[in-house]
Amino acid sequence: MRLSKVLFPLSLACFCWSCASSDFAAEGSHRAERLHGQPVRRYDALDYDITLKVAPGDSQFHAQVKMEFEITSPVDRIVLDAAGLRIAAVKTSFPSGGWDREGDQLEIYFDDILSAGDRGWVAIKYSATPGRGIYFRLDNPAIRPHVFTQGECNDARYWLPCNDSPSDRASYSLHAIVPVAWTTVSGGIKIDERVFNAAYKIVDWRMEEEMPPYLFTFVAGDFVTIEAAESSTVLSRENIFYVVEEGDSNQARAAFARTPDIIDFISDYTSVDYPFAKYSQVTVRGFPYGAMENSSATTAKRELILGDQELRPSWPTVAHELSHQWFGDLVTCRSWPHAWLNEGFATYFTALYRESRFGRDDFLFHFGNTIDGYLNSCTGANRRAVVKHAYEQPMDLFSDGTIYPGGAARLHLLRGWHGEEAFRKAINIFLSDNRLQSVDSDALKRAFQKAGCVGMEGFFRQWLYSPGYPELKLEWSQSERNLKVAVRQVQPARDPHTSHNAYETGSLWDFRFPLDIRYQVIGGQVEQQRVWITRRQQQFELKLPGRIEWLSFDPDAWLPASLTVDEPVAATMRRLRRSDSMRDRVLALRKLVSRHLGEFAIEDLLSIAEDDSEYLMLRVEVVRAMEKLQRNWLFYRARENPPSEEWLVALPDLLEQEWRKAIGRR
Ligand SMILES: [Zn+2]
Repeated sequence: MRLSKVLFPLSLACFCWSCASSDFAAEGSHRAERLHGQPVRRYDALDYDITLKVAPGDSQFHAQVKMEFEITSPVDRIVLDAAGLRIAAVKTSFPSGGWDREGDQLEIYFDDILSAGDRGWVAIKYSATPGRGIYFRLDNPAIRPHVFTQGECNDARYWLPCNDSPSDRASYSLHAIVPVAWTTVSGGIKIDERVFNAAYKIVDWRMEEEMPPYLFTFVAGDFVTIEAAESSTVLSRENIFYVVEEGDSNQARAAFARTPDIIDFISDYTSVDYPFAKYSQVTVRGFPYGAMENSSATTAKRELILGDQELRPSWPTVAHELSHQWFGDLVTCRSWPHAWLNEGFATYFTALYRESRFGRDDFLFHFGNTIDGYLNSCTGANRRAVVKHAYEQPMDLFSDGTIYPGGAARLHLLRGWHGEEAFRKAINIFLSDNRLQSVDSDALKRAFQKAGCVGMEGFFRQWLYSPGYPELKLEWSQSERNLKVAVRQVQPARDPHTSHNAYETGSLWDFRFPLDIRYQVIGGQVEQQRVWITRRQQQFELKLPGRIEWLSFDPDAWLPASLTVDEPVAATMRRLRRSDSMRDRVLALRKLVSRHLGEFAIEDLLSIAEDDSEYLMLRVEVVRAMEKLQRNWLFYRARENPPSEEWLVALPDLLEQEWRKAIGRR
């Protein structure tokens, strides 16, 4: 799922999962955080057969579902999540003693105790008023009528009686009775479409692969369908399509244009082909999030496709939701504390696609921002483990800035630590061994172990199950041919905000990790050495072939860590000018700005900003920095003459905008 600026609806109700061991209050927490166990249901849902009717003018929807199940341990009832649904009738394949509502649950009783292995079904006829889980856009005459569902995290139960847990996977059929002119979308493939009566048709969809209910989807309305312009290697173009409002066709073609290429990239990188029979993307009005990775059928807010593709491209969201088809859908987090397996991977594979198509500079620039987002979010009360078991609502785990960028940063660290080949092998094993299963984080650990990576127990304990990240103070100096490097970890030794929880305690200061030091001596080659940090303070001495031109710590941004480098200003300036790491150049620029070194640096900054051969986003950052640094007289002295209008409009759009802002000309 991609969050939008409004992170989640304010009207979240309070759920209570039916687990007896779930009531450990978090002492001292200002939120009502607690541990959440999986509800004990004693059955495995096998298949849902859903029939649903939507009629414009009717403020309710009417539906029925037949759920097939297999009993996993002796039980006298089936318990389903069914929030806000009006139950009209219930039938079962076993003699039944009736049914009852228990809060947001529906309990269906059997006359006899069923045994493990028993198979049967329950069928439920119900109706509901949309508002959560399913949304109607039928009343506004200015909007083409449509309806859509949204399940993650716990909202499938608002439109479908189900075992609403990410750990219980089932296939599903959806039979939609809708006005004849409407287009429908659901998971899997469309089996049939036929006349229901004069005004309505019935459309049959079938998702054969087993999915948890939060990934089920139903969208219908006055839409048009657009086929992709080209096929991907693993999916033909008629099976890649976009469903949008009629007037949005051109924007949709542009916004979704990279879809086949992204499918190919992820299939190739993981050596696991796109797992489903089709991939659709539909845009709707008033979607509560940015976009949602329903299996084989992503739903997104309409605004996704309306922006300027040069300035605000849609492809990162397209890539994020497509990555979820492998990470989240093909393999799903078993419970929400492990949701980083969904979101960390989706964030990181978006970055990997960027690297493969736009190059290392672009990757390091943007992934550096991802790391910064994590470092800035995961502080104070939010300093928490990536795998966090105590929470109030599962959506809280998504919205505090940890699992998306922090999860991606851990994957990047694994790649840097073990190398590209082992990383790709482990990812392939993770997907292959756990295909169509719901897993916890240890499944990823086992995949890396199987790929031959050592030290995984310690890695997961340190980086996934314990809170925080290293805060590093780095110093270096050179005398003759000797380079002296001092590394200190200065993060607090213990975090009062998280130490209350037995799942998440752990020393914060004894991080163990590789630290790359890259440098170039005057007239020499770029060289790199890796040192191992295992203690709070360490010193290293390295032999050099000459005088250092520039030196960069962690130039590939492998570390989810804050780095403060103590060095002369001239060395920072040389990093900005000459380092071969775009991440390092940005960090050097920020350091210069933070020290208000404008007068010293302005000529150098100007030469980078005006250099066509420099990476565009660095030029943009430099102009932004100059805007912060400048006093007007200084700026104009440096430029000698204010830039001409012709000069400005010849620049790329983003750079032109920043220049105009910097020189105060709109
Ligand atoms: Zn996501």
